[in-house]
Amino acid sequence: GDVTVRRLAQGIGVSTEKIEEVLGSIGEEMQSIEDRVPMDAAELAAAEFGWAVSWAQSITGSGTKAEPRPAVVTVMGHVDHGKTTLLDSLRRTSVAASEAGGITQHIGAFEVKMPGSKRSLTFLDTPGHAAFKAMRARGAKVTDLVVLVVAADDGVMPQTKEAYSQARECGCPLVVAISKCDLPQANVEKAKQQLVAAEVELEEYGGNVQVVQISAKTGAGLLELEEALILQADVLELSALRDGTAEAVVVEAHLDKGLGPVATIIVKGGTLHVGDSVVVGTLWGKIRTMKDSTGTPINSVLPGQPAEICGLRGVPQAGDALLAVCNEDRAKRVSDARAARKMAPMLQVPHMNGVLSGCGETHFVDGRALNIVLKADAKGTGEAARDAILQLGSDVVGVQVMHVGVGPVTETDIVFAATTNSRIFAFNVRTTTAEEAFAKQQNVDIHEHSIIYHMLDHVGQLLIDIAPACH
Ligand code: GDP
Repeated sequence: GDVTVRRLAQGIGVSTEKIEEVLGSIGEEMQSIEDRVPMDAAELAAAEFGWAVSWAQSITGSGTKAEPRPAVVTVMGHVDHGKTTLLDSLRRTSVAASEAGGITQHIGAFEVKMPGSKRSLTFLDTPGHAAFKAMRARGAKVTDLVVLVVAADDGVMPQTKEAYSQARECGCPLVVAISKCDLPQANVEKAKQQLVAAEVELEEYGGNVQVVQISAKTGAGLLELEEALILQADVLELSALRDGTAEAVVVEAHLDKGLGPVATIIVKGGTLHVGDSVVVGTLWGKIRTMKDSTGTPINSVLPGQPAEICGLRGVPQAGDALLAVCNEDRAKRVSDARAARKMAPMLQVPHMNGVLSGCGETHFVDGRALNIVLKADAKGTGEAARDAILQLGSDVVGVQVMHVGVGPVTETDIVFAATTNSRIFAFNVRTTTAEEAFAKQQNVDIHEHSIIYHMLDHVGQLLIDIAPACH
């Protein structure tokens, strides 16, 4: 994952001698201008000249030493069509197959090993579109495949179509899972007709989208679904280099009282080891411990695999890129340089083919933020919801939770929201007609939710809506 001295110099617009001089000063001796510069060193060199670097593509190409990697799968679909239940069932199969014995742990992603083979699939453990959108808003492409869940008793609904168009936009192939096939009122044929009408090119109608009938409740069809995904992954020929320092993407992160910052990552290239020094956004750290999705401690993680890591110096955001570097000092320097250059112009570096182009535009837009006042039925719920909401923010559009309170929305909340230009999210609390009328008068939006993922989806949508058009 790197770029040559010559390309770097071209991109920045300085001589190769200047680049070599700067690289030398940070301990990277180059023999020739065609030598490849490690990503972190390239960033530091670019920072010297006032550029920030955005690594546009990961090392996922089919280089000579690239090896097959598991596909990363996101489950999408309409509300109540069975996404969570499907993920629960899949997670259980992953745990049953491991030695950890039945303890399911939500870490944001999990790996399912196919029985009797070395193949596996990595599922993002967040249904709905919030995570997907948050990642996209941050320019991270982590998902290879989408499972589009359509309930057999309900058929194609608005969010089915939305999920389909999102998957199509980012070029993710999909496999359709017609769920709830155990229900007496299931009408698989009707669901298929509706999918065809929504321009989903199903295999049996001459397209290339596989359809699997499942029941997350009885477990019927789950293995077929996994097999369909493996088949689809084969078509993509997903591969990555295992050698060298790791690149990964943060899927979820939080502050644990005992462990400190904890993040779930999926490795995109290289191998991540315990003891590695890493940079994540403007944070750095040294990997202290890692666990797989069954909670088992592990020492290394390969491309396509998820892991929960400890040892970061702060809580990163979903979609942040993680980069392993040669030592702690380098990690500190790169994170400092990034923090200092947060407003610097971005240098787009799709580094697989080594092409550099300075786009000369800042990707960070001042003053774009979504302000939220959060009311919840209990203190713990409110805080958990706040943490989850904060993870959706990005450098492009930030999220600020201005206030978290317990109980119904009050007039004071509405006035506060009006003065801070916030929207109110009411989680598991009802708003009276009087307050609703007052909010309307004050031009404040109140959004009521009772399911966390739906609320996060909603916040994610608002973030996309206010994101600048350049994204
Ligand atoms: P989500 O909103 O898409 O995550 O949907 P959920 O997974 O929360 O499921 C919504 C409802 O459908 C719940 O009451 C589930 O128990 C039920 N459900 C999900 N999958 C199945 C299934 O395969 N069969 C039946 N009968 N019910 C299901």
